[in-house]
Formats: sequence, C-alpha cells, structure tokens
Amino acid sequence: MSEQKMIPSFDLSRNHQRVKEEVKVAIDRVLETQGFILGPEVDTLEKEIAAYLEVENAVGCASGTDALILAMMSLDLKEGDEVITTPFTFFATASCITRTGAKLVFADVDPETYNMTTESVLEKITPKTKAVIVVHLFGQMCRIEELKEELAKRNIKLIEDCAQAIGAHRMIDGKIYRAGAVGDIGCFSFFPTKNLGCYGDGGMVSIPHDSKRAARIKSLRVHGSGKTYYHDEVGINSRLDAIQAAILRVRLRHLEEWNEERRLVAERYRLLFGEKGLLDVVTPPAEDAGNRHVYHQYVVRVKDRDELQKFLDERGIVTRVYYPLPLHLQDCFSSAGYKKGDFPVSEMLSDEVLALPIFPELLPEEQERVVKEIAAFYAGRK
Ligand SMILES: *Cc1c(COP(=O)(O)O)cnc(C)c1O
Repeated sequence: MSEQKMIPSFDLSRNHQRVKEEVKVAIDRVLETQGFILGPEVDTLEKEIAAYLEVENAVGCASGTDALILAMMSLDLKEGDEVITTPFTFFATASCITRTGAKLVFADVDPETYNMTTESVLEKITPKTKAVIVVHLFGQMCRIEELKEELAKRNIKLIEDCAQAIGAHRMIDGKIYRAGAVGDIGCFSFFPTKNLGCYGDGGMVSIPHDSKRAARIKSLRVHGSGKTYYHDEVGINSRLDAIQAAILRVRLRHLEEWNEERRLVAERYRLLFGEKGLLDVVTPPAEDAGNRHVYHQYVVRVKDRDELQKFLDERGIVTRVYYPLPLHLQDCFSSAGYKKGDFPVSEMLSDEVLALPIFPELLPEEQERVVKEIAAFYAGRK
C-alpha cells in the first residue's frame, strides 16, 4: 500500500465545504418557523424545479423510490398489466412495478450508452403493455423521442427515471429538453450522492403536461387526502421535509456549475486514456449525439475488470461496479421467469463495467494517478 492519499469514488464533504455557509442560513430559516413537513419551502422548491426543467408541475416526495411508486400508482395499473423497463439499472426502477401488482417485463440495452433501445422495447410490447420506464442511466438521456412517438401511437405511458440525470438534456427537433420533461412523468432522487443531493432522503416527480395527474400525485403522497382527514383514495405517506427542501434550494443554484465540472472530469479521463494508449483495453462512456451527459457516474468497460478493481483498491483508488447482477437474474424477480442469456448486453456489461472516481471536486492530479495505475495494471498484461 502506497503512502499516497486515498482517492474515493465520491466525496460529499469536499462539496459541502463549498456551500456550508449558505446551507446553514437555509436550515436556520426553517428552524425558526418550526414547520418541518411540506409547507412553503417545499412549495417553492417544487416551483423552482418545475421552472428549471421547463415543465408545468413538480411534486416533492420522500425518495426517488417513492417518486417511482407514486408514478406507478397514478397509472391505475391492474393485475396482468405489463410495464417494460431495463434490467441494467438500480433495483427501485423495477421494484416499483412489481409493487403495484403489474407484470415486470425487461428489454435489453445498448452496449455503448447502456440505455434501453427503442427496438428492444418494441419487441416486448403486447396488448397488455401499459407503460414503459426508461432510465437515463449514469447521467445521459436515452433516445427518448423515438420511443415517445411509438408509445404515443399505442396509448402507452412513458415514465422517465431521472434519478441519475438531473440537468442532463437532449436536442429533440431543434429544441433542448431536460430529462424529466419529455415523457408523461419524470422521477427524481435527491439521495446525497446524486448530482443534486440533499442531506438525507428526498425525491420529486415531474409532470410536464397533465395538471390533473399532478394534483392526484400530490394527494397520493399524503394518504390520498385532498382535505385533511378526508380520503379520496388510499395513498402513502411520502412527504419531503422542509429542511431538505431548503437545502436543495441552495444546492439547485449550483447544479449547472457542478454538472459542468463533472463533464470536465469526464473529458479529462478520455484524454488521459488516449495519451496513455489505453483505448484498446478501456472503453470510455459514449455521449450520444445531441446529448448533454452529466456523468452521475463515469463508467468504463474494461478487460479483466475484477482484477483491475482489486489492483486499484490495493493502491488506494476506490471504484465501484454498477451493476454486478442484472435485475432479471435477481432472486426476488425469479417469478418473472427470466434466465441467464435472456439479455446478453446487460449480462456482458455486468461483467465489464467499472465506475471510476468522479465528483465535481476531483483534482486533475488525482485523475492522473487513477489513469497511471490503470496503465500500470495493463502494462504487465499486454
Ligand atoms: C438512486 C436511484 C433510484 C432511487 O432513489 P432513492 O432516492 O435512493 O430511493 C431509482 N432509480 C435509479 C436509476 C437510481 O439511481
């Protein structure tokens, strides 16, 4: 083990140092009011996020998982209805489907962008398909406009899981759309490590153009109640705290700058891999034409992934594997009836992907060390 300092995969404290005075003021403002659940801070944050995304409505809730569950609840799914999503994503994207009693259907992803493809989704559509959840994985939007057109023809709802992609955008027909502004519903997470993170759990649902659905989701998050103690339907308790909302309002003002910094980190990695002649063993993430990727994660594909990860770990460089087991092979989804070989791209990615350290404050010299060690690993193997 070298004497050098550890390079973490993310470092929230470096980020907090940049905003801590502003955050203290925001928290104090809430403490003075002693109003902790929903209230004016949450209302204002919802308006600010809606304006940022250029959508009609945004509704705060307790987590990204709950945002997905609320979205599913608002679709009135019945047993036997089918919802299509990707097996190469975080667990919550799929569990929100089985929770409603609907049937979970997977569609494979593209090996370069790691996002679900329109062709793979179209193959899985049946007369029972009610919705598709696309995931803008690792910070870049999928080719959502192609899919949107196909789904609209068939009256199938389009849900965007934007947990990793707040601030990402895509050029569609000459206009820029942010993640969460294209489909019928967008779902966001403010988990602390996300590009816009709070200091606990938090989430948001965006509803670009359906005020009735927005009102319904607002009611669903407070036990299906419009008027206090009168319940129109059975909802859940999924409220956003005022303290988290106040913190998020501070952090939202910095989001563009932090996302730009992540993009610089990504660009620097790419240049360093080229310089060190590593592009035959390391495949950097591809930015699809028209996309602004916000690099929630910087995920490369590599040869001998597990050995490389161990080698880097021994040298103080922390990397992660998102995701080591695709969802169709998880025990808890075995009743969906999938087996190994059903989604070859997702399975291949699970063996090859490695997430390198990335966060806005990552230093150029730290990145150089990461790439130098990767080069050292392959020097002994080529
Ligand atoms: C983080 C994440 C979620 C869940 O968000 P939580 O706030 O942790 O509940 C859902 N989908 C994806 C793709 C995520 O990365």
